[in-house]
Amino acid sequence: MTDTERAERHRNRMQRKKEVVDAAITRADKEKGLLLVHTGNGKGKSSSAFGMIARALGHGMHVGVAQFIKGRSDTGEEAFFRKQENVVWHVLGEGFTWDTQNLARDTETAQHGWATVQEMLRDPTLDLIILDELTYPLKFGWLDLSAVLHDLENRPAMQHVVITGRGAPDALCEAADTITEMRDIKHAFRAGIQAQKGIDL
Ligand code: ATP
Ligand code: MG
Repeated sequence: MTDTERAERHRNRMQRKKEVVDAAITRADKEKGLLLVHTGNGKGKSSSAFGMIARALGHGMHVGVAQFIKGRSDTGEEAFFRKQENVVWHVLGEGFTWDTQNLARDTETAQHGWATVQEMLRDPTLDLIILDELTYPLKFGWLDLSAVLHDLENRPAMQHVVITGRGAPDALCEAADTITEMRDIKHAFRAGIQAQKGIDL
């Protein structure tokens, strides 16, 4: 095949691809507040959700964050985004369950936290809400899944919600518009490397 023929073939292939992509873009003409779930055992669930905060702020949108489980407040994202005027950031957890070892207290903490989330889910001025590590209080039964789904369903029509955490329950996945499963192929921690600032926290 000559170079001219190869170039012509490439042009034709790209032309067909463009037609398919353009048709798909034309078909996707709906708008709605999305429910996204980041789950799986691999790294990247929370950091991807926090990346969306930057996207949203770049568009002048308002963002609310609720972090479950982790009582720690030392991530770079929290330090950075708390300084942004269009962000409200709530840390609602008290630490890992194996730290507290008190079911009644964990349940109370989670339910108290959910009341804060309910306020955000009723606030149409919040364009994006991140519910970081929400899957854990659901998994441990500290929060009632059907009540949580009900509140999510009744949020403002254009409000986006991102939920992170391993083991997302099936019913939550059914309700979601977009689900990403992070797959753990290799993680430095297993080679004995401690959590690194700017990468892991
Ligand atoms: P990140 O916040 O980095 O996006 P994540 O939200 O996907 O991670 P979590 O389960 O919330 O994962 O755990 C957060 C911390 O645990 C981070 O320091 C992360 O690097 C680490 N981590 C995540 N996945 C793994 C893994 N498969 N093995 C070991 N450590 C992990
Ligand atoms: Mg996380």
